[in-house]
Amino acid sequence: MHRNKKIILLSHCILNVNSKVNGIANYKGSLEELMVPLIQKGFGFIQLPCPETLHCGVKRWGQVKEQLETPYFKKHCKNLLEPIIEQIIDYQNNEYEIIACIGIDKSPSCGVNLSCRANNWGKEFDKSFSLEEIISSLRFVNEEGVFIEVFKKLLDENNIHLNFLAIDEANPKTSVEKILKELN
Ligand code: SF4
Repeated sequence: MHRNKKIILLSHCILNVNSKVNGIANYKGSLEELMVPLIQKGFGFIQLPCPETLHCGVKRWGQVKEQLETPYFKKHCKNLLEPIIEQIIDYQNNEYEIIACIGIDKSPSCGVNLSCRANNWGKEFDKSFSLEEIISSLRFVNEEGVFIEVFKKLLDENNIHLNFLAIDEANPKTSVEKILKELN
């Protein structure tokens, strides 16, 4: 059987929901509604590393973009993404097609169209701590997450064009239909 030479890059948690912050999970393991049709269409996949798990582990608290747009986290993302860039270059040099990268909207790391911000996120749990106040400061913004920003910069530097699509973190199933239509 001939391989079709078409590859899709996936945010890590699309294939492994266990990498998400504890408490966030809208599917058991992999996002079946997306993956089964894509497998049936014959795509191959590259699973991107989860930048947050590889930074703070599976017991991390939920982050916002303000906590991650540091020189250290950006460097961490760059280190994780450089081998991905090398794979893309090698595949493209050998007539493989990188069809798209599917990120996770609302994530401070992997958001494509939407990320999340909160000015006062990050504090000691002392007597002055107000959960309500902190949660009410959370807002979604029309920005990429830090990992995707670093990825796009590396892609630009290497003259690679990539189509970015996104799963909505809060309601993945609604975005699946749109992606499947686009990748038809
Ligand atoms: S959205 Fe990105 S950082 Fe968050 S769990 Fe998924 S892969 Fe990890």
